[in-house]
Amino acid sequence: MDVIYLDNNATTPVDPAVAEKMSAFLKEHFGNPSSLYPIGRRVKEFVTQARESVAKAIGAQRSEVFFTSSGTESDNWAIRGVLDACPDKRDLVISAIEHPAVLQMADDLERKNYKVTHVPVDSDGVVDLDFLRRAVTPQTALISIMQANNEIGTIQPIEEIVGLAREKGVPVHTDAVQSFGKIDINVAKLGVDFMTLSAHKVYGPKGVGALYVRKGADIRPFIHGGHQERGLRGGTENTAGIVGFGEAVSILMERGKKDKERIGGLTATLKKGIEDAIPKLKFNGHPEKRVTNTLNIAFPGLEGEAILLALATKGICVSTGSACSSESEDVSHVLLAIGLKPEVARSCLRISLGRFNTEEDVQGMLEVLPGIIRKLRHISAFEPEE
Ligand SMILES: *Cc1c(COP(=O)(O)O)cnc(C)c1O
Repeated sequence: MDVIYLDNNATTPVDPAVAEKMSAFLKEHFGNPSSLYPIGRRVKEFVTQARESVAKAIGAQRSEVFFTSSGTESDNWAIRGVLDACPDKRDLVISAIEHPAVLQMADDLERKNYKVTHVPVDSDGVVDLDFLRRAVTPQTALISIMQANNEIGTIQPIEEIVGLAREKGVPVHTDAVQSFGKIDINVAKLGVDFMTLSAHKVYGPKGVGALYVRKGADIRPFIHGGHQERGLRGGTENTAGIVGFGEAVSILMERGKKDKERIGGLTATLKKGIEDAIPKLKFNGHPEKRVTNTLNIAFPGLEGEAILLALATKGICVSTGSACSSESEDVSHVLLAIGLKPEVARSCLRISLGRFNTEEDVQGMLEVLPGIIRKLRHISAFEPEE
C-alpha cells in the first residue's frame, strides 16, 4: 500500500540530498571538532559552514547561532538560561498555546516557585496583546511566545510583542520551529533576543536544533560541560546531524518561494475539496495569519482519533493534534485555549503538507476522507443539519 504522508508538522522526511551529504560525511570524517590537528579542524570547518547556513537563513550572524540536541532543548535552554542570568527576576510570561517544550518547562518552574503567566488567545489563536501588556512587570525575566502554532498554524504578531516588551526592557524568546521554512524570518526585523529552530521539521535529521542568541543577550548555559559552542552548550557536537541541518537549510533557501507556493497551493486544493464534499465542519486557526501547509478541522459529533485510525488503514498519515500529545488522553490545550468545548476539540484532525506531497496525495485523501466521515457519522447517528 502506498503511504500518503500528511503529518509534516510532526516531522518531515529527510531530503535525499541531506541524507547523501550526511552519509558521505559520516564515512569520511570522525574527528572531534575541538581537536587541533587536521582531522579535527576539518570537521570544525563543516560545523562552521552549517552554522553559516543557518545564520544566513534567519538574518543572524554566525556567532549568534548555537547548535543543540533539539527544538525542545533550545526552548528549555532559552527559558532556564535567561532565568539563571537574572536571579532577581522570577516571572515568566508565555502564551496558553505553546509547545509542550515550553509549557512543561514552565510547569516545572511553577513547582519551583517561579511565577508563570499564560497569556490567553482569541478564537483564531492570536495572543491577547492587552493582556500581555498588563502581564509584563519589572519582575518579568522573559516573554516566550511561539511564532507559528504547530496544531492550528496561527502566526503571532511577534514584532508587536517585541515592541511592547522593549518598552519594559524584557527580552523575548520565540519558538520558530513551525514557521522556519514556511514564512520569511529575519531576526533583526523581528527584534527577538532568542529563537528556537529544529532540523527535523525542515527535511533535516532528528536530534539536532539551534538557538539563536542575539549578540549581547544575557543567557547562562543549560547543558554544562566542555567549552563547545563558545562555552554556552557543553557536549561533543552531533557533527553529522549539524552537517545535515546545514544542508537542509541551504536547500530551504534555494527552493524558498517556489516550494512555499506549491505546498500552499496543494493545501488550498485539499481544503476546497474537503469543504465541497463534507458538510458541517469547521476549520480552526486564523483564516489569513497562518502557515499555509496546515489544516486543522473539527468534525463535531465524531472522535478525531477514529478518523485518524480509519485513514491509517488506507495508508494515510495525519494527526489529531501535536505528536507529543497523541499518546495521552488529554484534550489539546491549544484547541481548548481557542474556546472549543472538550468534545469538539476531541473531534479535530490536523493535516499538514510538505515538500514531498503531490497532487496525487491530495486526490488520494479526497477520495477516502468523505466516505470515512459519512460512515462514522452514520455509526454515531450524527445528523448534520443542512
Ligand atoms: C516539533 C516542535 C518542537 C520540538 O522540536 P524537537 O526537535 O522535536 O524537540 C518545539 N516546538 C514546536 C512548535 C514544534 O513543532
